[in-house]
Amino acid sequence: MHYVDPHIHMVSRITDDYETLARMGCVAVSEPAFWAGFDRRTVDGFRDYFRQITEVEPKRAANYGIAHYSWLCINAKEAEDVKLAREVIAAIPEFLDAANVLGIGEIGLNKNTRNEATVFMEQVELAIRHDETILIHTPHLADKLRGTRMIIDMLSDFPSLDRGRVVIDHVEEHTIRHALDAGYWAGMTLYPVTKCSPERACDLVELYGSERLLVNSAGDWGPSRPVAVPDFIVAMRARGHAEHLIEKVVLDNPLALFSRCRRYVPPTRVADRAGAAAGNARGVAASHRA
Ligand SMILES: [Zn+2]
Repeated sequence: MHYVDPHIHMVSRITDDYETLARMGCVAVSEPAFWAGFDRRTVDGFRDYFRQITEVEPKRAANYGIAHYSWLCINAKEAEDVKLAREVIAAIPEFLDAANVLGIGEIGLNKNTRNEATVFMEQVELAIRHDETILIHTPHLADKLRGTRMIIDMLSDFPSLDRGRVVIDHVEEHTIRHALDAGYWAGMTLYPVTKCSPERACDLVELYGSERLLVNSAGDWGPSRPVAVPDFIVAMRARGHAEHLIEKVVLDNPLALFSRCRRYVPPTRVADRAGAAAGNARGVAASHRA
């Protein structure tokens, strides 16, 4: 079955992972901007990172026929330095016309602090100003419910915001309803140690249906499984769910969300274009066809 991983940090994965994803049926990944494991000190550090996820990763992915999309932002973990955060927010529009960018993300909260909230609000304003879709990180463990409530509360300050263009990610049993009931997309992150497991994600599909639900691996440099979405597919099949239901969650839904981005082009065209830039055989063949 073809699928999309709508939240995975490929900058922290090895090239073999791209090969594995391709073998598993992955046709597209989307990579939100996140914390790199250390705090960056300058706005140019972020500029280099944005170049990496808008120029370098799409080519690396295209070598395996995978379309690579990305989201841009300053993440909540680095939002305590509001002065630097504002410099980064001012730099983001330089990259918004990059072909693979889907919107602003993953913005959100980490420890639910005042500075995090300030930087979150300013990035929602940035997204609205530039007509961008939004991907939102919700805090871990004990902070998750309060953080999710704070986020939905802050978003209610923007009545013009199209909620069908916003994902609230890393939902669990106690937060999923808050996201769905308010009209947002909800992302379930399958992590080996925290967040959701494939079995719990199946439970949530059974309880809440498949509308506006996404499943992702959030694969990063920590303990995580880049093949968590295929794990979910296997778990859903083991419970006897229909192929079309599984495909809706892992393929149709993420592409429906991505298509709300004003720059959206389908995965085959993204992979061909990045492949042509990388000079790989598939991309060169596609550029000759075009
Ligand atoms: Zn992430």
